[in-house]
Amino acid sequence: MSSRSYYSVLQVETSASEAEIKRAYRTLAMKYHPDKNPEGAEMFKEISHAYETLSDPQRRAAYDQYGESGGRHEGPSMEDMFGSMFGGHPSRDPSRNPRAELHPLSVTLEDLFRGKKMRLKLERSIPCSHCKGLGGKRSVLKGCAPCGGLGYINSLRQMGPGMFMPQRSVCQSCQGSGKVIPEKNKCKRCKGLRVKTEADTVEIKIDPGMSDRQKVVLKGKGDQAPGEEAQDLVFVLEQKAHATFVRIGDDLVAEAEIDLAEALCGFSRVMLHDLKGRPLLVTHQTGVIRPGEVLCIHGEGMPRERRPGDRGDLLVKLHIKFPENRWTPSPALRAMLPATKRRPADEGAEAAAEMVSGRAITASEFASRTSQSSQSRNARADHDEDMFDDYGDGYADYSHSAPDCQQQ
Ligand SMILES: [Zn+2]
Ligand SMILES: [Zn+2]
Repeated sequence: MSSRSYYSVLQVETSASEAEIKRAYRTLAMKYHPDKNPEGAEMFKEISHAYETLSDPQRRAAYDQYGESGGRHEGPSMEDMFGSMFGGHPSRDPSRNPRAELHPLSVTLEDLFRGKKMRLKLERSIPCSHCKGLGGKRSVLKGCAPCGGLGYINSLRQMGPGMFMPQRSVCQSCQGSGKVIPEKNKCKRCKGLRVKTEADTVEIKIDPGMSDRQKVVLKGKGDQAPGEEAQDLVFVLEQKAHATFVRIGDDLVAEAEIDLAEALCGFSRVMLHDLKGRPLLVTHQTGVIRPGEVLCIHGEGMPRERRPGDRGDLLVKLHIKFPENRWTPSPALRAMLPATKRRPADEGAEAAAEMVSGRAITASEFASRTSQSSQSRNARADHDEDMFDDYGDGYADYSHSAPDCQQQ
């Protein structure tokens, strides 16, 4: 499909005789041999690869079988099978860059909020400029005979009648380079390794609103092997936990404590510092705050990526600090607080009532007493109270159903 057949690479008919194939190979190999044609390296590899298979009657027969079925059923051709087994055929498409180097990059929530430019020093491997990635002078290079300059050896292992399994192994004679260089002629700089290490500085730009696990790709800034394009350098952002905020999508979630008077009468005070370090004067004047309620501050969340003017919300989970157990309200306070009216029926029933009194137990005490019986847990139909007990379901729900808490 995308790869040319071995026959078209060698420019022969599929019915070509062994002699015709050999002649075609010789003509093309002379034309494209890297010694004569510096641009021909890829083509030379392709030709050698094709010849390697078509010159061997057994391999050719297997190739014909796979090739034909591949053409009819869109199934894998031999090339595709090699490709999928070995992570891409080296000679098929040099412009494609299947591998990229992944590097974790630790960032703070502040970095993701404000955006940041970072300069990083790193080392990359690039073709040796002294020998142009050849490992020695071109005149002393010899194509490796056992692998035909490919650097690897393809073979077919017979699995059963008519069943072949492609195998590829690194050529032992040239250690995969496709070339052999006499020891004394090896490049002095790279010692025949063909690559050298270069110090490089790269700039990474983090845009405001980027997320944990997001990738920042620097095209062509990774290692480069001789004759190949440089790989991409990819940084994966890893956000460190923040002392104040938990990020959920574009929203920020924080916790704060208010006292009972503030819950009942409202408040206006500096409760938090935002991600720029500015103090936030949080005001809530109308309406009582009940246990478990969350203050939603519109537009104080994370900037949305690519629309940094647009921001998510800040959700402040409020913990109401009640007075100590032994605190006694003054009769004046009791008189001022709203009270539930007694119904007449209650007064009639009081004369016949059994006198009981209670001791307040904490919510966790209650939970540990009731958790022993799964039945009591299942019987609790009303989950409103623990809706915001943790950041789990409650908040997920919140952000989906009410992405915006602008006051109506
Ligand atoms: Zn060199
Ligand atoms: Zn070799």
